[in-house]
Amino acid sequence: MSDPIWAIAIHGGAGPAHKEDYSEEIAHMRGVLKEAKRQLAKGGAALDVAQTAVRALEESGHHIAGRGASPNKDGKWELDAAIMDGDTRNAGAVGALRGFRSPIDCARTILDVSPHVFLVGKGASRFLKKRGLERVHNPSRYYKPSVQAAVESGELQHGTVGAVVLDSEGRLAAATSTGGLLNKQPGRIGDTPMIGAGTWADERVAVSCTGQGEYFIRCAASADLSARIRYNKSDLTNAAACVLEDISYLGGQGGLIAIDRLGRVTMPFNTISMKRGFATWRDELDVKVF
Ligand code: ASP
Repeated sequence: MSDPIWAIAIHGGAGPAHKEDYSEEIAHMRGVLKEAKRQLAKGGAALDVAQTAVRALEESGHHIAGRGASPNKDGKWELDAAIMDGDTRNAGAVGALRGFRSPIDCARTILDVSPHVFLVGKGASRFLKKRGLERVHNPSRYYKPSVQAAVESGELQHGTVGAVVLDSEGRLAAATSTGGLLNKQPGRIGDTPMIGAGTWADERVAVSCTGQGEYFIRCAASADLSARIRYNKSDLTNAAACVLEDISYLGGQGGLIAIDRLGRVTMPFNTISMKRGFATWRDELDVKVF
């Protein structure tokens, strides 16, 4: 009998390089992929593996998400995240969320127990507090902005974390989490938690985007990638390249990771760098920045 097929891709954001040496980020991402490999090889579910990988990337503080997120223009931390199960198309998302440790765990809770897909702001907080999600009580001590110099210069930068997974049962899932654009307006929500823009999974493909969210929203980027496979019969790499071409045509910058049911992975970007990596049942594992 042939080995079951499974695969995972992760990203830590596309954008201008803000460091010369990314060895810490690369080592951490390799660790995340090794753990995901272990879970997938023993039959772990795509949705759980995607959530676990994104939580680890949030916690690392290496990216503009979770612990590494930066405050908005008012000095408040407002985070966005989404998770989608391709098998059922159930999804959960949070926007402009304040005071919770893991936005991706919050999104998963919404997927699991809410009849709604997307909760934002105070209503989201009330819902999640009731379900006991872990809080951040002292944001200025907890968060360690991963690109402090850019925050101080007022430069608009971006970087997000995401995972797309195919499990050995053939199920696909996508998860994305972000602190959003640096120096963003209070109340601004990007593409990350918008199902069909920054995050998507169905029976064909799982997609997680990163970059200037407004462009990904205007291109319905992740849903468009799936539609190109479905209606155009495009292959994965070509569909992803066309989506990114559309973003570039509008003047947007960023990248995406996508995986299909055959465990094929594509990770295109039009920026200087995108922290990205993948692992598959074929014993492949690789992480790159440039
Ligand atoms: N896409 C995210 C947003 O616009 C930011 C990023 O990926 O860096 O909020």
